[in-house]
Amino acid sequence: MHNKTIVELSADLHAKKYSSEELTRTFLARIDKFNPQLNALVTLTGEQALTSARHADAQLARGTAGPLTGIPLIQKDIFCTLGVKTTCGSKMLDNFIAPYDATTVIKLKDAGTVMLGKANMDEFAMGSSNETSFYGPVRNPWDLNAVPGGSSGGSAAVVAARLAPAATGTDTGGSIRQPAALCGITGIKPTYGRVSRYGMIAFASSLDQAGPMARSAEDCAILLGAMAGFDALDSTSVDTPVPDYRANLNNPLQGLKIGLPREYFGKGLDAQVGKVIDDAIKQYRALGAEIVDITLPNTMLSVPTYYVVAPAECSSNLSRFDGVRFGYRCTDPKDLADLYKRSRGEGFGAEVKRRIMIGTYALSAGYYDAYYLKAQQLRRLISEDFTQAFKQVDVIMGPTSPTVAFNLGEKLADPVTMYLSDIYTIAVNLAGLPGMSIPAGFVGQRPVGLQIIGNYFDEARLLNTAHKYQQVTDWHQRAPEGFK
Ligand code: GLN
Repeated sequence: MHNKTIVELSADLHAKKYSSEELTRTFLARIDKFNPQLNALVTLTGEQALTSARHADAQLARGTAGPLTGIPLIQKDIFCTLGVKTTCGSKMLDNFIAPYDATTVIKLKDAGTVMLGKANMDEFAMGSSNETSFYGPVRNPWDLNAVPGGSSGGSAAVVAARLAPAATGTDTGGSIRQPAALCGITGIKPTYGRVSRYGMIAFASSLDQAGPMARSAEDCAILLGAMAGFDALDSTSVDTPVPDYRANLNNPLQGLKIGLPREYFGKGLDAQVGKVIDDAIKQYRALGAEIVDITLPNTMLSVPTYYVVAPAECSSNLSRFDGVRFGYRCTDPKDLADLYKRSRGEGFGAEVKRRIMIGTYALSAGYYDAYYLKAQQLRRLISEDFTQAFKQVDVIMGPTSPTVAFNLGEKLADPVTMYLSDIYTIAVNLAGLPGMSIPAGFVGQRPVGLQIIGNYFDEARLLNTAHKYQQVTDWHQRAPEGFK
């Protein structure tokens, strides 16, 4: 059962080949067996999962089930889950039990999914390797010495290791796409505003967006259909109808214009990763697509721009963790100032503190114009690059990440090298566009992801473009040795 996609599992559940309870027990047993090696889950909700599974079985029996009824999945621990610990990978929230469900969690529950547990992640979603988590790093199922990527590293690892058919992720600068690439799975970051951010612990509010991570584009289409939609509780949620993302999956790619930005294929790209991407592009040519060389001239500005905007927003968002209302509180504070200082000093890890300091500095009077305002102007130029490009092409393709998964500890001492692993993903968030990553091959035993970027609200086309490739290749079906 564990190797099947959501589409296959759902067909089996509807055909009564097995029950959701049996399916849930299968995955819970795999989690018991494999999670100790991977450290991909921080909280297990087995009892609750079995109750939801029985509920789903009743719906299946009554004939009122949908495509996600009875399907187990894992939530990234950034989503508030009613009555269940929600840590965001931080000591600061190690004792936090959410008093309500995030909108995405409610929507997936209403669709009949069964939550098995909560996935490990970089602390407050800041990182590209899952090594900033208070709960320790996650290991990549393809090679236990490698990182799974971040910040949705736990989500990517559980799907790759077949501990669940799907997981949720969030992407502020690449955190769905980069771990999906490094773990050989499929993930989509929708257009900003497509999926509600209500109940999703905020990192950088103008960039954060949730999306599904699964093994195929078709599964992502089903999940995104359930997650997307207007939410009055999120003021940045966009009120446009959610299309049926499965309806156009099989559209032919004849005449599809694919743009290859020259900046995504230059210096910094590992030659073997580049070769895998070239082969994927050849495959698209064979499917009838037309390849167009394009330029995104401000690409090199995206990492420095992001590392002003994201820290500025996080320094504001994380000011609520002060040891008073919720979260970690230091013992025996001398006075109020001591309470704030020590609660934050002891509750946050090094990367989070680094960002809060950068952000506070960039927003301070006297520096605001020089840094934050300048970064906002550059952000506009970066978006403009894409607007120009989408006048010529339908989608943009390139590598998701410049390298395959790196070794644990390899980039930890050098934040700037770590930040550069998001060089091809970050601009998409600055522009608010949708982007996805699909498995396209390997370098040695480590997976390579192909990134597909689309115009605003063009998720259906991205999923169609990915699905057609997955119909003629089997990279997305490969399973890591030891987890088959
Ligand atoms: N790696 C980037 C960062 O560290 C992006 C993280 C994310 O998308 N949440 O901020």
